[in-house]
Amino acid sequence: MVCPKCGKITQRSYNGLCQGCYKYFKSGGKVYSLPEAGKVEHDESGKVICHICGRSYNRLGSHIRESHSMTIEEYKAEFGLCNRTKTTEKFYSQTMRENAYKYDMDKRLLEAGKSTRIKKGETDKRKNKKVRLQEVLEKRNRGKKEN
Ligand SMILES: [Zn+2]
Ligand SMILES: [Zn+2]
Repeated sequence: MVCPKCGKITQRSYNGLCQGCYKYFKSGGKVYSLPEAGKVEHDESGKVICHICGRSYNRLGSHIRESHSMTIEEYKAEFGLCNRTKTTEKFYSQTMRENAYKYDMDKRLLEAGKSTRIKKGETDKRKNKKVRLQEVLEKRNRGKKEN
């Protein structure tokens, strides 16, 4: 089927949409008017709005790659954005730094032989957080030039 929102051909239908669109709208995503070429627009929560589809994302780089099959460099060239233009939402970078710091603290505590105590019911939450963080850290190590 063809996704009615983005025109992508998709094997599976998620409520009539492709997986990307389904997830985006399910989590309350909106479609904004397309920013002018050469300008970076943010939505009310500070996410960056895509020049191609008008959706807002924390990290435009991965969205551009996955949804529009372009690199962020191609995207910036196409829309007249300076290469130094930040396409990562400010708050996101800050959160990642803080998480990395906390992660490091956990590690140091473990190394020091003190077990970081986890209350019952918190295990899964912590695990998810670490998995996500690990992905982020791996990505960061793989390509520091990104964004
Ligand atoms: Zn779609
Ligand atoms: Zn887009």
